Amino acid sequence: MGRFFGFRCRDCGDQFEVLTGTGRSFPLVYGRTLRLAVEGKYGEEIRRFLEEHPDGALDCERVLLLCTECGELANGMDLSMYIPGENSAGEEKSGAVPPDLKTYRLIRSCEHKCQCGGKMKVIRGEELARLAETEDALNKMKDFRCSECGGQLQLTAGTVWD
Ligand SMILES: [Zn+2]
Ligand SMILES: [Zn+2]
Repeated sequence: MGRFFGFRCRDCGDQFEVLTGTGRSFPLVYGRTLRLAVEGKYGEEIRRFLEEHPDGALDCERVLLLCTECGELANGMDLSMYIPGENSAGEEKSGAVPPDLKTYRLIRSCEHKCQCGGKMKVIRGEELARLAETEDALNKMKDFRCSECGGQLQLTAGTVWD
């Protein structure tokens, strides 16, 4: 299941939409993402990790990426790197099905870089959902700035999309 969120600038009206979570098509998405990752689409660090750990897994949950420098928002995936734990089921090691990461061991978090060179923070759907329900959400969203004008962004929606 995934969630959809919208951001809207209070000053210039600029809008941004993000899909978070996994959704029904997740097994397909997972397989495709892993193939692309092996080819190096998600950077050298992840490519090398999968070469060293053919049974390795990636956290392919869709997340919001927020640049801590310029405030840029982007749709992305968490892409943290995992290897099977002692309780991981055998068939999950083939990489064909999305593995249950709860039984896996986190090796490294993926460092997301913004075009400006700044570090991007991963914000999960649950976090946005909690934020949307908070009364003083605007206060808690001081980091969320419009990339066009620097105005304060408002969280406008939180609907299930799949
Ligand atoms: Zn704006
Ligand atoms: Zn940036």
